[in-house]
Parts: sequence; C-alpha cells; structure tokens
Amino acid sequence: MPFAELGLDPKLLSAVTAAGYHDPTPIQAQAIPAVLGGRDVTGIAQTGTGKTAAFVLPMIHKLGQGRAKARMPRSLILEPTRELAAQVSENFEKYGVNYKLSMALLIGGVSFGDQDRKLTAGVDVLIATPGRLIDQFERGKLLLSGVQMLVIDEADRMLDMGFIPDIERICGLLPRTRQTLLFSATMPPEITRLAQQFQSDPMRIEVAKPATAATTITQYMTPCPSNEDTVKRAVLRTIITAASTQNGIVFCNRKREVDTVAKSLQKHGFDAAAIHGDLPQSLRTQTLDRFRNGELRLLVASDVAARGLDIPEVSQVFNYAPPPNADDYVHRIGRTGRAGRSGESYTIVSPGDQRLWDAVTKRIAKDVELFRPEGFDEAVAAAKGRGPAPRRSSADDRRPRKASNHQEDERGSDDSVAEGGRSGRRRRPRRGERSPPPVAAETDDARPTQPPEPEATPATDGPRRRRGGRGRHRGSEQPAAAAATSESFRPEDAFRGMGDHVPAFLLRKIGADEQA
Ligand code: AMP
Repeated sequence: MPFAELGLDPKLLSAVTAAGYHDPTPIQAQAIPAVLGGRDVTGIAQTGTGKTAAFVLPMIHKLGQGRAKARMPRSLILEPTRELAAQVSENFEKYGVNYKLSMALLIGGVSFGDQDRKLTAGVDVLIATPGRLIDQFERGKLLLSGVQMLVIDEADRMLDMGFIPDIERICGLLPRTRQTLLFSATMPPEITRLAQQFQSDPMRIEVAKPATAATTITQYMTPCPSNEDTVKRAVLRTIITAASTQNGIVFCNRKREVDTVAKSLQKHGFDAAAIHGDLPQSLRTQTLDRFRNGELRLLVASDVAARGLDIPEVSQVFNYAPPPNADDYVHRIGRTGRAGRSGESYTIVSPGDQRLWDAVTKRIAKDVELFRPEGFDEAVAAAKGRGPAPRRSSADDRRPRKASNHQEDERGSDDSVAEGGRSGRRRRPRRGERSPPPVAAETDDARPTQPPEPEATPATDGPRRRRGGRGRHRGSEQPAAAAATSESFRPEDAFRGMGDHVPAFLLRKIGADEQA
C-alpha cells in the first residue's frame, strides 16, 4: 500500500516523498490510519522499523488543524533519553517542513531560559524526557491540561530506567479525554499494566515478535579464554580487523569500560570514540554527528547512550560482553541490519560472561555461529604475556562453526578457576570465598535499581525517585545485575579469603575466656 492511501494530508505526503520514502513500513501502514481515526495504539516494534514516523506523521496531520496556546502544549512525546528526544525532534522538523508548527524540546543539557521562552509563546508539540518535564511543570512554566495526544516511546526502556512513576504522574496531569500511543520493543508485564491503565481500547500492532532479532543480521560469538580486560581488548581488536569493519558500534556494559575500550582502540590505531551518559551533552552530540557523517568509524557506547539512535548504515555491532539484560542484546544488534540491509553482530564471551550469554541465547532461542578470527590465538597469547601460541592451520581460521550455546571447552586455566571449571558454568562460592561482584549495567540517567558508578555525575534527565523508587528490577532475568557494583571483576579476587581454614583465635569463646 502506498503512502497516499493512508489518509495523510498532501503536505505531509510531499515531505515523505522528499525524505525519499515510497511505501510505508508495516508499522506505519497499520498505525497511521488508526491514529488518524482517533484510536489509541500499542505498537510493539523495535527501533529501525520506522515507528517514529508512525506516530509523528499522523500527529502532524492532526496538529495542522488547530493553534497553540501559551504554555499549553497540544501534544506530548515522552522519550527516555536526550538523544532519542533530539532525534524525534529532527523527524518532526523533517516531516513538518510544510507546516508552521512550533515545537519545544525539554531535555537536560538545554538551558531553562530557552525552553521557558518557547513554552510561554505556546507550542504544538512538546518532546521531553520525563524528569525535565516534571521539573518544568513544578516551576509553573507549563500546563498539561491542553494535551490531546500523548506518545510514550520506548516504554520498556523507560521501565528499565525507573521512569514509570514519573510517567504515571505525568499521565495524571493530562486530560482524561486524549489519545495515547505507546511504543515498546518488548511488552513485559509492567508495560502491559501501564497500557491498560492509561489507554482506552488500544489497537495492538506488533510488527516483530518481542525480542526477536531481524533476520538480516548474522550473529557470531567469540569465546574469550580469559576474563582479563587486556585479553578481551586484544580479542576485540582481532575481531574488528577480521570483520573488515566499515563502521560499527562497540557496546560495553559499564561507562568506565566504554572509556577504557575507546582509549585502547585509539591507542592501537583504530578510529574510535566513546559515548556514554557521563560525557558532556555537547561532546555526545558531536561524536554522534561525526559517526553519522562517516567521519568516525567506531562508536564505543553504553546501552543507554545508544538506545534507539537512528544511525542508518552500521555494518557491524560488537559486544565487548553480552549485556546484563538479555533484551538489550536484541536492541544492540538491531543497530545493524536495519531497513532490510544485512548486518553482522559479534559478541565476546569470556568465562565470566557465560551466564549472561546463556540468558541471551535463551531469549533469542537460537544457536549463534562461533567465530574465531585469524590471529586469535596469537593475540590472546600475546595479551596474556606468554608469547604467541602455536599457529592454527589457516583452514581453521575465520571459519564460522556451529556453536552450542555454551562455550567450547577451550579455556585456559586462569579463568576456569574463577568461573567454576571448564564447563564455563558458575559454581557456588565455597565457604570463605568471595563471590565475584555482579556485572553492572550502565546508568546513563541514573536508574534507581542500580547504584551509579563512583565517578558518575547525576544527569539532569534522571528519574526523580533515584532510590527505593518503583523502578523495575529485572528480577530473574538479570539477578546478577540488579545489585550491581561498578568494579571490574578480577578472577583473583574470588580467592582472597581464608578458604576453609579458620584461625584458632577466631574460634575462641569471648567473654568466658577473658573472665577466667
Ligand atoms: P525508526 O524505527 O523510527 O528509528 O526508523 C528507522 C529508519 O527507517 C530511519 O532511518 C527512518 O528514516 C527510516 N524510515 C522511516 N520510514 C521509512 C519508510 N517508509 N521507508 C524507508 N525507510 C523509512
């Protein structure tokens, strides 16, 4: 079905044509007529499916038929991150080019003064992160009683970031008779509940199964025989080189890891730069622009910073480790293979990552090809400081092999101790041993469920209940990540204890002995 048959205003159709689009994507084909008809919509769609235009186009169509009043926005789009909010505003400008609609972007890192002036003049659409929106509301700069259409975008990410209480509060400030559109890549029970609470008889549109990766992505997994960062970084470099990377995103689980990996890649001559929540907004935008324009080859990112970013032609995605949340794996690899293009993803799995990897493979319900790039053994041996290992035959190199969802039994002795032997599964720590600290997810906008890293500065868009709020623990999905600490895990730490031996003085009865 062509765009012309969706019922959109001709001015919008010409903007769509100017943007180079001919046919609507499946989510657009289903959502646009429903939204124009006034229905609430629950869209289950990953980024890359064209979901932004699915709500921006009918919203502009409707806004074209009215006028903005001072301090009373007519529509509201909630986004979890500043980058995503900025990206939606770019879409709004692109598709709204033939309209005189006003827009305000309420995100951290932009001065209140500029935002105040726009709000006072009256805006047709407000694109905001929840924290900043509530700040502005509490400052008395905003009335939400004129909002006729609400979009909650990336709802599952909002949940992860602890924004649900803020969203509930914002919904309570809006008129009851309004249209509510909710988009989410996955539908965990909390989001279903949110939809039931704030939507009225929504049309459910599902364009890809939740947590299903696009079929255009070839997924590889590279077992790393050690948990040591130097070894993992060497493995990463080998993979990037072997994959003939044009441009790619390297995902890390911690902000500090993002910095270290980016610096290490730069040191080894790779064109790489970091993006994460602790970096100044101006630098994040600049880095992202360079990457988009093809001036930067490798973007090293955290999940939150990269979430939903529209970067059209990424050839490869690299996971320095599997993410603590299996859903994020799908989001990460969804950065490649977009809009029908083919893409590749590579995940490094060290013994300490095995549990996370098990969760990922369970979630995607498929085996992933094993990838051992040329020079792998040499790189690992050199990084371990033992000199090059005996050369494998070239026939073995870069040959994707069918892998089980567990690593093959190829690990060195160092990590098999730390992670419970050669099976790669964790064992329970013995008495006297310390458990390895759990993996920490990045907290760009400070999730209440996870303590920020020590050097982290609070981001202005953060959820308002930072501790003890109702933000979701992913519970059984990421038991290790929930009580995160940000320190890197060092295998030797697990064995700094007294083992089973308890010194005699600790067994002595206190009190009785001392009185005698
Ligand atoms: P989104 O899922 O909104 O992040 O969009 C993903 C990408 O698809 C963006 O680069 C859009 O510009 C692009 N896109 C949106 N609609 C269409 C369409 N109808 N045909 C082709 N590409 C589109």
